[in-house]
Amino acid sequence: MTQSSPDANSFPDLVELDALRLTVIVDNEVDFMSSCPRELNHTTQAQTLFKDKRNIDKERSTVESDTNAGGHHGHSSHAHDHHGHPSHTHGSDSAFRTVNFHFQDVCCGAHGLSILLTGTKDNVEHRVLFDTGPHSAIFLENAKRLEVEFEKIEVIVLSHWHIDHSGGMLTAVDKIQEARSKGQGLAPVVVDLHPDRPDERGIRLTRPSGSHEQPDVFDYVAWGKDPSFKELEDAGAKVSQSSQAHTVCDGFFGVSGVIPRMTAYETGLPNHARWSVETKLWKQEQEIMDERYLVARVKSKGIVVLTGCSHAGVINVCQDVKRAFQHGKGAGNNDLHFVVGGFHLAGLSMETRIKETVSDMLDLNPSFMAPGHCSGWRAKAALEQAMPGKVVSLGVGSDFLINHHGS
Ligand SMILES: [Zn+2]
Ligand SMILES: [Zn+2]
Repeated sequence: MTQSSPDANSFPDLVELDALRLTVIVDNEVDFMSSCPRELNHTTQAQTLFKDKRNIDKERSTVESDTNAGGHHGHSSHAHDHHGHPSHTHGSDSAFRTVNFHFQDVCCGAHGLSILLTGTKDNVEHRVLFDTGPHSAIFLENAKRLEVEFEKIEVIVLSHWHIDHSGGMLTAVDKIQEARSKGQGLAPVVVDLHPDRPDERGIRLTRPSGSHEQPDVFDYVAWGKDPSFKELEDAGAKVSQSSQAHTVCDGFFGVSGVIPRMTAYETGLPNHARWSVETKLWKQEQEIMDERYLVARVKSKGIVVLTGCSHAGVINVCQDVKRAFQHGKGAGNNDLHFVVGGFHLAGLSMETRIKETVSDMLDLNPSFMAPGHCSGWRAKAALEQAMPGKVVSLGVGSDFLINHHGS
């Protein structure tokens, strides 16, 4: 562990929310089956489909769909259980409903991250979109399946300039602006970005050991261009550039500045590189200094942290959050409640950091963690083994409700 830093981020005007909902629009994983602690009020889009009254199969139901099924009159000609209890005949239920489940309606996984946050306080609601996934098609399709209300999204926060987080952004702005322009006096969506946008980023491939072919030639993989400030403005967004800690949506959400690098082992992403249009050269860039995290505070629960990829290291992220909220800075509960997003501990060079990460995470002691995206199964398994019951699946289509009324 490390000492406190004068560079810690701070969010003095972050308010305390009554509730925070997280809806996962894009993640690497599809997992609508794993159980989740009750306190997180977890549901998934697939489970919602299990109960979707629009898909009730009247021919295979013996009871009305539901007395409250607005617009759906699922009256059945079949026999009812007049006592209101399930009855059984030789292993078969005589009173039942059937919903047809269509697997093609379930959200799809993709390498990337996009999470919609809905904060509420005193019946006021604000929504922020944290990252937009790797490309338009997956963002749009999953948002449609989740029935995202685009007109209610006020701000898009980009965690860092990597295409698996920014790739769906222009489409997201298009959709949000299309929806907001129909509303009464709704301001343009704000896109909150770090000013240091690279021309393009990529990775230098590791040479197979024992390879002697062309020893001076290196292979790079270019990931594609992030949307530009101008493209976003042309799409109707209000671009807001910041490299400092600040809050958005009347203090509902905090966006960090630079994440201080404090631990010895979280040394960035080996072989990561930045392309320069001007020099026409790849430059090594192990530290991705434009990365920011997002925080929210929920009454009686504490701090919820969203981290895009944790290129700064998830321990550096969490330690900075601890410093930001230590000694009662700001009003309310400052416990580390829920750490959500990419922990970036997958791949040979990163997996060596799992042991120390788990050890330091034990000290930080968050109530819950949802390691998703680039975390990798080894890190998830190690965290769960060290802290049983604290690790939950992020998974596309997941919905978590952090609520001070909850258990
Ligand atoms: Zn990523
Ligand atoms: Zn990244």
